[in-house]
Amino acid sequence: RGGVAEREIPFAKPGSLTRVYAVASGKGGVGKSSVTANLAAALAQEGLSVGVVDADIYGFSIPRMLGVEHKPTQVDDMIMPPVSHDVRVISIGMFVPGNQPVVWRGPMLHRALQQFLADVFWGDLDVLLLDLPPGTGDIAISVAQLVPGAEILVVTTPQQAAAEVAERAGSIALQTHQRLAGVIENMSWLEMPDGSRQEIFGSGGGQDVADSLTRSIGSDVPLLGQIPLDTCLRVGADQGMPVVLGEPDSPAAVALRGIAKGL
Ligand code: ADP
Repeated sequence: RGGVAEREIPFAKPGSLTRVYAVASGKGGVGKSSVTANLAAALAQEGLSVGVVDADIYGFSIPRMLGVEHKPTQVDDMIMPPVSHDVRVISIGMFVPGNQPVVWRGPMLHRALQQFLADVFWGDLDVLLLDLPPGTGDIAISVAQLVPGAEILVVTTPQQAAAEVAERAGSIALQTHQRLAGVIENMSWLEMPDGSRQEIFGSGGGQDVADSLTRSIGSDVPLLGQIPLDTCLRVGADQGMPVVLGEPDSPAAVALRGIAKGL
């Protein structure tokens, strides 16, 4: 490679103490980035050292959701990631001009991810979360190549159609021999003023994905939690204040904090 030695990825070294989770979904709009941002904030609040790589080229919504105000800086030949709510964040969106759509091919994305992992000064992280683009694209394979120990978290809604594509995203782990940490169901219900639950997107999708991945992988893939629809979550994301920090007692925050504790 032109004589320039590639820096090693610290998280891929044997004995690395950083737990790496790749957050995947079958399709967009299921709340994958919201879940990633909130789990990161919740884990940081518990006192863990946390980083997030936003590799969702179609969305790159993580910086806004986490209220990141600064750009990365360069110190020597390392990139210093901005920090918000005690979470170190790097996003593909920080490296594209304006709000231009990104038309990147697999190899470019692979290279970007490699740089995010190797050339960013992460320090000693307890947990690194990777927000993947939706679908079963090349990037999931890249993650497996770059950080073979990364575990996969699958986010789905309760809807059957969404669950089927989520299952496909999860089954990538079969090919790459990665561990599936579990399934998170989002938008599970809306709590009504009388305490009843309105299941806007149906029910059962998360459990179905967990069950069928368990069958195809041959080891237990748990449903880690169900997150209700919650206006507070959306407002928090828009304001750069994750709901787990801003409204910790709201229904979605309680669910998300529970999932973070169980990781
Ligand atoms: P993805 O990363 O899967 O594309 P996002 O995290 O960007 O999805 O979420 C899509 C939209 O839905 C955002 O506007 C987000 O604020 C909203 N959203 C996600 N989860 C919930 C929830 N549990 N309750 C209310 N709004 C939510």
